[in-house]
Amino acid sequence: MEAFVYEALPQRVVFGFGTRTSLPQEVDRLGLTRVMVLSTPEQAAMAGELSALLGGKSAGVLASAAMHTPVEVTEKALEKVRAAAVDGLVPVGGGSTTGLGKAIALRSDLPQIVLPTTYAGSEATSIIGQTEGGRKTTQRTSKVLPETILYDVELTASLPVGLSVTSGLNAIAHAVEARYARDRNPLISILALEGIRALAGALPRIVRNPEDLMARSDALYGAWACGTCLGAVEMALHHKVCHTLGGSFDLPHAETHAVMLPHTTAYNEAIVRDLLAPVAQCLGAPSAARGLYDLAASLGAPTRLGDLGMAKAAIGRAADLILQNPYWNPRPLVREHIVAMLEDAFEGRPPPRPRN
Ligand code: NAD
Repeated sequence: MEAFVYEALPQRVVFGFGTRTSLPQEVDRLGLTRVMVLSTPEQAAMAGELSALLGGKSAGVLASAAMHTPVEVTEKALEKVRAAAVDGLVPVGGGSTTGLGKAIALRSDLPQIVLPTTYAGSEATSIIGQTEGGRKTTQRTSKVLPETILYDVELTASLPVGLSVTSGLNAIAHAVEARYARDRNPLISILALEGIRALAGALPRIVRNPEDLMARSDALYGAWACGTCLGAVEMALHHKVCHTLGGSFDLPHAETHAVMLPHTTAYNEAIVRDLLAPVAQCLGAPSAARGLYDLAASLGAPTRLGDLGMAKAAIGRAADLILQNPYWNPRPLVREHIVAMLEDAFEGRPPPRPRN
């Protein structure tokens, strides 16, 4: 065993079917008396149901969450939260809504009970990304870690198939990068594999039948495992590429992860083949990169950056931005190799075989 340091995040996790009905008890458990339910405009009805469940302990619904946590949205929401004199937040939704909850918590220290409805995994991390003036910045702070996660499988049944697939691949990306993280540790390495196994098994069943609650349950469990990996160790090239493409070229979050994952994995697999061998084995493929590419293609996920709105002429600038303030990565970042990787992803070519 190599040397390691492991620090677990203090968080309560409640997982199951219909767990949303225990929301009032979870609110009491934290000693809260009046909470604000947060959502996107699209999920306002779901948020309204939770608010009704809370009766007098709810101050109502704030349905203004938006992708990439824009600071203007946070500031307006913060005014409303302060005016309503609440002592807690209940975000229900995907990473965008969790992001709004975290952004308010960052500025107010309010406790949060999150009900996740996608597989993005933000609820299990102390990471917050915010966008201001078109620039996305990310930080880790325990102030934003939700106190409680209430995973209710039933809330994920309405997640459209396309988003289920790309969000699931987004989760798998956290686990793949956790396998070769600089600060990896044995517990998270095992959890990463477990998360990949659960999601790779569940997603094809969800594509066949989106209402298969057993498959939804396995996927949500996988998302928790992968989100926990994201919260525990540092991410590398893959996350840097996706943040750059999302932040500077406005490419959609989960879809970008889905397209890039086989290519960033191939880039690193040449160096960390031993660490990714269990991933390849779990996917039944000759390499992790090939297994991820085939999985994404079989699920009908997007495979080409070109289809997400990226212009081919932007590849050079994207490579420059990826090389600016790069995250630590097991394989050194060489511009011409990064450009080649982005070109493969642009065209949707299968990732090259890992070379030693
Ligand atoms: P999202 O939260 O933006 O959701 C996408 C859309 O799907 C929204 O309209 C939402 O209302 C809808 N939706 C979500 N769940 C649904 C459901 N069950 N049924 C029907 N509609 C549903 O998407 P996301 O991919 O979950 O989150 C992306 C954002 O999260 C990005 O801004 C990303 O940077 C952030 N993120 C942050 C972290 C972190 O640790 N800080 C981790 C992962 C993602």
